[in-house]
This record gives sequence, structure tokens and C-alpha cells, in this order.
Amino acid sequence: PEALLSVHDLGMTFPGPRGTLRRRPGVRAVDGVTFDVRPGETLGLVGESGCGKSTTGRMLVRLLDPTAGRVSFRGQDITRTSQHRLRPLRSRFQMIFQDPFASLNPRQTVQQIIAAPLRAQGESRARIRAEVRDLVQLVGLAPEHLERYPHQFSGGQAQRIGIARALATRPELVVADEPVSALDVSIQAQIVGLMERLQRELGVAYVFIAHDLAVVKHISHRVAVMYLGRIVEIGDKRQVYDHPAHPYTKALLSAVPLPDPVAERTRERIVLLGDPPSPANPPSGCTFHPRCPKARARCRTEAPLLTLTAPGRQAACHFPE
Ligand code: SF4
Ligand code: MG
Repeated sequence: PEALLSVHDLGMTFPGPRGTLRRRPGVRAVDGVTFDVRPGETLGLVGESGCGKSTTGRMLVRLLDPTAGRVSFRGQDITRTSQHRLRPLRSRFQMIFQDPFASLNPRQTVQQIIAAPLRAQGESRARIRAEVRDLVQLVGLAPEHLERYPHQFSGGQAQRIGIARALATRPELVVADEPVSALDVSIQAQIVGLMERLQRELGVAYVFIAHDLAVVKHISHRVAVMYLGRIVEIGDKRQVYDHPAHPYTKALLSAVPLPDPVAERTRERIVLLGDPPSPANPPSGCTFHPRCPKARARCRTEAPLLTLTAPGRQAACHFPE
């Protein structure tokens, strides 16, 4: 099927710290990221903090201008389009943020917050009122919530408001940057379940960003794993969860709890040594090699490319499973 979003060789290099005479080389936060998002699907984008997933997410909806590569929405390059020409497309891709309170204006009522994207489209007052009432119900809030302010809500409810705002213009794509990471564990499943239901009802596609594979397991159709600014594995959910090809994916998966207690007790746990290295000073060759249990000599000198290792799945490793 035709891609909704096509991401090609996307890169973001932040300027390096100023030296006394000249700037040091830049920091590559995102490097050579390529993937598609299909209409109505969920792509889970997973990696440890600092791997570049939020930066990638912001570039997908042009909240941040990439320094390399391009993003096409329905075949139209949105990377270097002027903000003026981007405006009619803006309503078709939206974003949900990690901290719902920080992303909602504390001085606006729920009515005003959800109405804002519709007002930007020039809808009539009556139409906006009716739409906003529908939206609050769609996300499981009540009409009497409309006149309240964000601080009067719990974190989970506030995220429902953020979701209603993101869906107000009936977008085809929503990039959700760790939408449940700031919420209580007991609330996380409710919000993920809500997003799944909304996808079924509205046909919206998601890029769902998370720092562990457990959160995106149920909602994702495909999964991409990032490490130090690059995608190291991407594929159909079943392939990635059941037969991970990349040692990093295997390590992340070994931390996902198994439902069967016997399997949970007897499973192999892979504990990665150390923290992810700084993108300001990435290791040579395969950047995962200092932490990889399978690393060999070649890994220190030669960077692996993302290649097909099974139908529907690519991995960047010299010695994939
Ligand atoms: Fe590990 Fe080598 Fe594969 Fe990198 S290329 S993930 S170091 S085995
Ligand atoms: Mg982040």
C-alpha cells in the first residue's frame, strides 16, 4: 500500500559546543533514519533515553527542521516547504506529548484547548462547539469537564485532553512521544487502550514512541528500535518480538515481563553493561559494540548497514540471529 509518511535518510546534527577558536564538530542526534508509516497502522519507535527518538518524532511533524534527509507526507516533501505552504497540511498530522500538563495551556479551559486547532481552520463557532462536545466524549471525558482548567485533572485525564486536541482536526497521522511514560502504571493501559479504540474508529496512524518494548507491544503493527541516533532493527511486530535479529533488541526484550510465570522464571536475561555512549563521541564501527555480548573484531571497525534478514524485517548487525 501507498505510504502515508515516507522518511528518507533523516538526520539531525546539533551544533557542537563552542571551542575557543572554532566550533567543535556537531553532535549527530539522528543519522540516516529511513522508514515508512502506512495509513492506519501503528509504528512503535523504541530506544533508551537520548537515542534520538523524540528528535525524530518532532522532525516527522516539522516541529524541528532536519539537517539532512526528507519527510514526505502523502508524497509531498514537507521538509523544506515554507511554513505558509505547510499550513493546509498541518491539520493532517498532529503530536501528543509526554507531559500532558506542560503541553496544555494552564490558563485555557478544556473547551478552548480542544477548540484551538479547529479555530485555526476557520470553522464556525457553532460547528466548533458541537465538534468539541463530540471529542470530549470520544476520549472518555464528560461535557461538564469543558469549563475546567488543566490543573483540575489527573495526569491520565489531562492526557485524554491532549489526545482530543490532537484528534480535533481528524488527522491521518499522530506522533505520540512517550504519551504514557509520565502516567501511573495503572493508567497507562487505559490510555493505550483508548488510543487503540480511536485508531479503529477513526483510521488514524500512529508513530508511538516509547523507551521500552513492553509499552508498545499490543498497540504496534510494526516496531523500529533505535540506538544512538540510528535504527538498528525494524519490522513486523511478530518478527521483532518473536525472532529479534539484533543483539540490542534481544537485550531490550529480555526485560519485558512474560505473562507465564514459569517462562518468566526460567528465561535468559541479558543485562547490558554501562549506559549508552554519548552521541557527541560515538564508538567506532558498530556503535553498539562496547555493550554487545556478541561483538567481534570486525564490529569495532566496520559499521553494519540496515539489511533484510527475514521477510518483513531489517537489522543492522554483522552477525544477526
Ligand atoms: Fe553486536 Fe557486532 Fe552486531 Fe554490532 S555488528 S550488534 S557489535 S554483533
Ligand atoms: Mg524523549
